Amino acid sequence: MSASAPRSENPHHAEALELIASEAAEAWKTEELLAWAIERFHPRLALSCSFGNPEGLVLLHLMHGIEPASRVFVLDTGRLPQETYDLIDRVRDRYDKDVEVVFPDAGAVQGMVREHGMNLFYESLEKRQLCCRLRKVEPNRRHLAGLDALVTGLRREQNVTRADVAKLEIDEGAGVVKVNPLVDWSHDDVWSFVRSHNVPVNRLHQAGYPSVGCAPCSRAVRPGEDPRAGRWWWENPETKECGLHVEEESEGSGI
Ligand code: SF4
Repeated sequence: MSASAPRSENPHHAEALELIASEAAEAWKTEELLAWAIERFHPRLALSCSFGNPEGLVLLHLMHGIEPASRVFVLDTGRLPQETYDLIDRVRDRYDKDVEVVFPDAGAVQGMVREHGMNLFYESLEKRQLCCRLRKVEPNRRHLAGLDALVTGLRREQNVTRADVAKLEIDEGAGVVKVNPLVDWSHDDVWSFVRSHNVPVNRLHQAGYPSVGCAPCSRAVRPGEDPRAGRWWWENPETKECGLHVEEESEGSGI
């Protein structure tokens, strides 16, 4: 991803651009990068957490330890499983955290389901992308418009489409600095942290779900099966992104 100027006038964006150009942040430890981001951008920094992956909860735990008022938001697509809503409330209770729940535009979703039906995502890639765009990508962009920086739980080994993710990037479409502190963490690193710090996670992981998204688009996988086989399992691996971490100009191929 290139490092041209983000939209915001935040003075710390220039520092971020220098760090990206020099790749200096690639050597920073997770807590070091989070502390830098919080110091520079809070309260216009927020964690994007699906509450369906342990990575987001690890980051929430770490950020809370650095700054108890650190912000977190979740996109409520309207199709999330009950276990995810339960986890949001467990996090609210344990950390006394004001989780920012972001909803899609009701009129847009209403128009989509009237035209294409409730379960359009199974019918074609285009319809699945439309659903992800209206329920996730557009609400996400709307929320990012109020931020200068975003923290994500992306890891390089998660997917072929994430192999080149850097610790610090610019999301040019959204105009924010993107902070990815877990890019070089392994699956075992994440779960080891969860267990050693008793981090609350989605109960569906115990039922074989490596990651939990919308209920109709997530399923359990067998032991040894590719973890991404649990999401949009009827599609090719190359198309398995919802679009939240894909540049706006490539929207349509990556959502
Ligand atoms: S994951 Fe499935 S239900 Fe959720 S927004 Fe995407 S297509 Fe729609």
